[in-house]
Amino acid sequence: MIGDAAASDLTAGTIRYRSTRDGSSASAGAAGRGSAGSGVGRDVTFEEALLRGLAPDGGLYVPVGIPMLPPEWRVRPTPSSLPDVALTVLPPFTGAAGARAVADALDFQVPVVRVGDDLVLELFHGPTAAFKDVGARSLARLMQAATGRAGGTATILVATSGDTGSAVADAFSGLEGLQVALLYPNGGVSRVQEEQLVAARSGVRAFRVEGTFDDCQRMVKEAFADPVLEALRLTSANSINIGRLLPQMLYYVWAVAQARNAFGSTGTIEIVVPSGNLGNLAAGLLAQRLGLNDVRFLSAHNANDYFVRYLRGEAQPFEFAPSVATLSNAMDVGAPSNFERLNTLFSSDLRSVITGDVVDDEATLRRMRLTYERHGYLVCPHTAVGLEAAARSRARDAQGAGATRLVLSTAHPAKFPESVRRATGVTPEPPPALARFGTMEKRVEQLGPTLVELRSALLSRPLFDA
Ligand SMILES: *Cc1c(COP(=O)(O)O)cnc(C)c1O
Repeated sequence: MIGDAAASDLTAGTIRYRSTRDGSSASAGAAGRGSAGSGVGRDVTFEEALLRGLAPDGGLYVPVGIPMLPPEWRVRPTPSSLPDVALTVLPPFTGAAGARAVADALDFQVPVVRVGDDLVLELFHGPTAAFKDVGARSLARLMQAATGRAGGTATILVATSGDTGSAVADAFSGLEGLQVALLYPNGGVSRVQEEQLVAARSGVRAFRVEGTFDDCQRMVKEAFADPVLEALRLTSANSINIGRLLPQMLYYVWAVAQARNAFGSTGTIEIVVPSGNLGNLAAGLLAQRLGLNDVRFLSAHNANDYFVRYLRGEAQPFEFAPSVATLSNAMDVGAPSNFERLNTLFSSDLRSVITGDVVDDEATLRRMRLTYERHGYLVCPHTAVGLEAAARSRARDAQGAGATRLVLSTAHPAKFPESVRRATGVTPEPPPALARFGTMEKRVEQLGPTLVELRSALLSRPLFDA
């Protein structure tokens, strides 16, 4: 690892992290409350989990034991802002310095708005107009805190199906000692997304891969295990990194508080999560374990429906399928990497707190059109998958009139102008954050879908050039 553990504030959190492949981690989330369990020898500090990304045995880090929210927040959470949630929730997970780094990173609005019968949590007001800004910005600040003290360096290697890459590039660019290499599937991202990915930024290399997102993700995993690349000190910014996942808990706490306080929701809140890699959902379940009362989840998927089939008992754990291309391309994931976390932390309860639904492209476009016609509200295709799943859930649920449905809106509609125009006839106005990419210089490199090619590209020139 890079930092000096003994001197590091990020080791000050009380919670330790354990690989999902450590035999004893099956009980890490639930039974692990307060007790370290038998895998303690291999448990690591937050800083180590953050800098490694993936555990040496190939597993993902999960917290050993989850602390409860302050009692008054369990009854009725009353945060004043998202940074306030960070400073309250994160210290046991990240140490106080980590919590402050995240609070600083979350310097944009995350409003809850009413859209017809639903509440919508707008997660797209960050610098790249997608919810991935929350995790990416937090992660960048956390890593800077960890490597900065030791004067170390690290290379962030990211596979992206669209929004992660630009959020990560934006969050890390210009941070001393940190470099980013992005892999994205050729033809697998929208024009606007690609424009953001290839915008030239200091310390960032973008690779367009001749393959699918799953190829990109596999290459990243192989690179982490590759001894030849060890010198680059690779680390991950995908949702496999616990440092990105934990900050995503915060907006669940925030949104539930808004629903209860500002919108008067008293009964069950069904949180609808447009899902791909299941990172967002994993963070939601962790947030629920903090003690959010009367909350359940609806995982909304496009045609990449492995997790829904799993929830319905139609697919075995890890019996994944190849990904297929859809309009909601940031959710085109055949083999969701966070399934391993969900399976380890919550396996026995998954089916009791989560339901799933599958929304095809036709229904996605129809929901985009209806939402605009009825409410004058433009949404991206991912958000539309969530809104459609919410509408179906309400129609199915006879007592559902009392339940609040809170849909996570994961990207600004202007990131997907073609789909929005096709569904509604309207071209969404890009927010200033997006408009700036049109004028930036572009820089991208081609790559075949193999570790061999990635390795030679990464070693072809020093990443830490001037
Ligand atoms: C990444 C992404 C998702 C899916 O989130 P996961 O954490 O991968 O499940 C949904 N919508 C958008 C716009 C995204 O960028």
